[in-house]
Amino acid sequence: MKTIKLAHLYPKLLNIYGDIGNVITLKKRCEWRGIYLEINEINIGDLIPESDIYFIGGGQDKQQVEVAKELIKYKDFLQEQRDRMAVFLGICGGYQLFGHYYQPKDAEKIQGIGLLDAYTVAGDKRFIGNVTVKTEYVEPNTLVGFENHSGLTFLQGDTLPLGNVSVGFGNNGKDGTEGARYKNVFGTYLHGSFLPKNPHFADYLIELALGTKPDEITSDIEFKTHNSLINKKY
Ligand code: GLN
Repeated sequence: MKTIKLAHLYPKLLNIYGDIGNVITLKKRCEWRGIYLEINEINIGDLIPESDIYFIGGGQDKQQVEVAKELIKYKDFLQEQRDRMAVFLGICGGYQLFGHYYQPKDAEKIQGIGLLDAYTVAGDKRFIGNVTVKTEYVEPNTLVGFENHSGLTFLQGDTLPLGNVSVGFGNNGKDGTEGARYKNVFGTYLHGSFLPKNPHFADYLIELALGTKPDEITSDIEFKTHNSLINKKY
């Protein structure tokens, strides 16, 4: 039986809006194809094992500070993992930590691990609501989700957006971009959870982790949800 190893980073601190749903989706979509997804829950103090997929959810600044202090110890290791093309998915607060730093309004700068050439600064307004993104990485070319953040993320260098928003604010509400990609590192502001509503993107991550396209499975219910959310304003 094929096995994919997933490290779920700091779920006790970063798991807002049911981000755990992303891991459950990967688990089920692997299982339905006879692939075993081995999930290692990593909490503060645990060693991060070498894995095929690293997942981290979102949370508030307070939890981000705690996680950032731990994550920084693994900066070199995780950059090596990125360079050997391991798959990473970071949601919102976790996505911000994949960049160089997050500068909150009235608090100390939170250091990220530089997996993405990106940085985040707190804005004056919260971006809340449904989001529809057009992306070139999957077919159909839409991604849907729900955002709630005040951090504004800006991409630089070879880090590309995950897509462009047709509804919602995305990275910073200015340049129309949402999320980021560099190598197989993905970041997005989309909660919701993200992968249950975007099964084609879940399969894309599985494909990148396996190095081969996974078998076709039906996703009628998932796409019904996905389609019902396209262009939906909050
Ligand atoms: N604290 C961050 C922000 O508001 C992340 C929020 C989140 O993960 N939902 O920008």
